[in-house]
Amino acid sequence: PYAAIGIEVNVDYLTAVAVDLAGTELLSWRRSFPGATATPNQAVAAVAALARRVLGRMGKEARQVLGLTVAVPGLVDVGGSVRIAPNLGWHDVDLAGDLAKALRDPGFPVLVDNDANLAALAEHRFGPHGGAADLVYLTGAVGVGAGVIMDGRLRRGGQGFTGEIGHIQIDPSGAECRCGRRGCLEAVAGMTAVLHRTAPDAAPAELEPEIEEVVRLARGGDPLMLDTLATIGGELGKGVAIIANVLNPEVVVLGGYYIALAPWVLPAAREEFARRSFAPEAGGTRLVASTLGYGAAALGAAARLLDSVDSGRLPAQ
Ligand code: BGC
Ligand code: ZN
Repeated sequence: PYAAIGIEVNVDYLTAVAVDLAGTELLSWRRSFPGATATPNQAVAAVAALARRVLGRMGKEARQVLGLTVAVPGLVDVGGSVRIAPNLGWHDVDLAGDLAKALRDPGFPVLVDNDANLAALAEHRFGPHGGAADLVYLTGAVGVGAGVIMDGRLRRGGQGFTGEIGHIQIDPSGAECRCGRRGCLEAVAGMTAVLHRTAPDAAPAELEPEIEEVVRLARGGDPLMLDTLATIGGELGKGVAIIANVLNPEVVVLGGYYIALAPWVLPAAREEFARRSFAPEAGGTRLVASTLGYGAAALGAAARLLDSVDSGRLPAQ
């Protein structure tokens, strides 16, 4: 039997998923990782160690592994090189090449792709909106990014950089963004913006426990937290309106930490989206939270390799 592996390396965690040919999860794993401060070499070593462990597990189950796809929070060019990952502080990292070397198996396929692109693939393939030909997945972690599916296919654009909604300016006087600009969507609606107002001393490297704390405070009705999440939701709604005005998708799926924060962020986002959408009734675009959880990018990463079996071709970057 076959298996495919997906690993996501992001600002504060590493996630791994292995699936069989039907896309059923064989294992899924997650731990915190200091992506914001780790060097590319340290990240390569961590991903390679994790990949070896998953390969070991698959070996014990006598599974033939089709390959590994790695999801990263940044611009990945059509050759699989990470051009800019602002929140990792990476520029021009040949992640696929470095990982292939670290794994010391020249024939083993290693692909690299953008986290939001892969999560969109997972959402389209396994989510409850599979029927939607036009779907945008909007991920919210420290960074905000979109994966765009139109006519049932992931759209990459000329260089592979489609969907960088996180770096569209929403507020000219807004907070500085890690990309060097100001008031980008991710700077005003990403998790850094949430923490900035409610836990100014929090280290982004430990985001997950911080989000749990945010949820706890929101549930308890903390006024500052409720106000913050409504504000972030409003900013997010501006981003969704831009997506809808340009692409008119059937559904925009919110992922990442927006899933946990949906009860408070989603109402404000929907309201602002409706106000700013040019098409009547917000163009029919539904705005919903993902049901796939935090593992969506890793799941999509693994699933990308399954297509190579369907088409009988070797996985191509
Ligand atoms: C990056 C995107 C990424 C998003 C979510 C942004 O800062 O530019 O490429 O998809 O963060 O991680
Ligand atoms: Zn930016």
